[in-house]
Amino acid sequence: QMGGRGAGAPENSPLQIFVKAKKKINDIFVEIEDYVKDAVNYMHEIEKEQQILDEKSVRQAEEFVQKVHGIKDVLARDHMKVAFFGRTSNGKSSVINAMLRDKILPSGIGHTTNCFLQVEGSPSDEAYLVLEGSDQHCSVESVASLAHALCKEKLKESEMVRVYWPRNRCLLLRDDVVFVDSPGVDVTPNLDEWIDKHCLDADVFVLVANAESTLMVTEKNFFHKVSTKLSKPNIFILNNRWDASASEPEFLDQQCDEQAGVRKQHQERAVDFLVKELKVCTPDEARERIFFISAKEALLARLAEQGQSPTATLAEGFQSRYFEFQDFERKFEECISKSAVKTKFEQHSQRGKYIASELRDVLDRLYLDAQHLRDDKLLQRKELHDKVNYTEQQLMVITQEMKQKIHHMVEDVEQRVSKALSE
Ligand code: GDP
Repeated sequence: QMGGRGAGAPENSPLQIFVKAKKKINDIFVEIEDYVKDAVNYMHEIEKEQQILDEKSVRQAEEFVQKVHGIKDVLARDHMKVAFFGRTSNGKSSVINAMLRDKILPSGIGHTTNCFLQVEGSPSDEAYLVLEGSDQHCSVESVASLAHALCKEKLKESEMVRVYWPRNRCLLLRDDVVFVDSPGVDVTPNLDEWIDKHCLDADVFVLVANAESTLMVTEKNFFHKVSTKLSKPNIFILNNRWDASASEPEFLDQQCDEQAGVRKQHQERAVDFLVKELKVCTPDEARERIFFISAKEALLARLAEQGQSPTATLAEGFQSRYFEFQDFERKFEECISKSAVKTKFEQHSQRGKYIASELRDVLDRLYLDAQHLRDDKLLQRKELHDKVNYTEQQLMVITQEMKQKIHHMVEDVEQRVSKALSE
């Protein structure tokens, strides 16, 4: 009964906005491709026989075939990308694991993520990882082997390790969501390099904060940098470890009041950060972007639901935290799919429209040229026709004249003959 949207009900997920849009725009490009190919084949055919086609138009139409191919390739790779940031140990890996409903990323002491980790659906239903600058597939059977593989390599903090995980094990991966886990923003990173390398194409950013403390300058700085490079980034703030503040001894007596007070304070600060400091959204929008959750509990609950771990003993208030986690997921899915459709497909549809209208211009020109050619030929035929007519008329006149002349001559001769006879 805790499950909410279970793994078996994908069709009402807001991610379907992206999935369906992707399918539709792909279908449209299949049609555009047919149209462009037909046009090119037709041009090649008439190129052989007629002289109305200029070389340039044919080459231009051939280039459209290449362009449509290029767009279809990019389209096939288009995905929704979410990047997680926050200080080390705030629970970034735990949040990702809870969303993926599986312990995929190593988390906890000694498993600090010291490079960027990207998790995406595997094209082959095998789990493997690929290090930056290599195309070798290292197979990973389990979290332990993933953690081991990551420790073994000397990785730079801005480097990216891609983890490919079987799509059928997680709806989010199946629906083309790509997760990026980052090293803690407190590890004195080169923020500019991070952002340029890994963030410019992110549709959503999630700041995983620690509900036991206030937002840190390092965390805020990172997002200030992000918002100078991207206009109005979509940012969610998760106040994680909300279970830990619930079970603190001083809360146990007057828990509700105290916790409500702390929550209100965190909430106000986070709203101010998004609205007044970063200016990325309105106060109403901000309230839909801030959540108080426990990633650890959500993950444990999901593992227990799937029978992968014994049912955990749940702390006070678990239900409402878990409900809030699910609420976050729903708002997140809505936000990421809408944003990805807009940023990714708008460009494709502009280019599709451009190609279709350019090709129409080429064909229009071809049609006009063909019409001119026909008109010219008709004119030539008419001139010829007129000439023939004229000659015929002339001939008639001449024949008529000749007839008369002959007639006169005959008459004349007759007269003269009869005159001579009578004389
Ligand atoms: P990261 O460094 O930000 O990726 O943090 P991890 O996900 O590795 O989490 C660090 C430690 O905090 C781990 O031992 C987690 O089990 C623990 N942790 C993560 N989320 C929560 C939470 O919501 N509540 C509690 N109590 N512990 C958590």
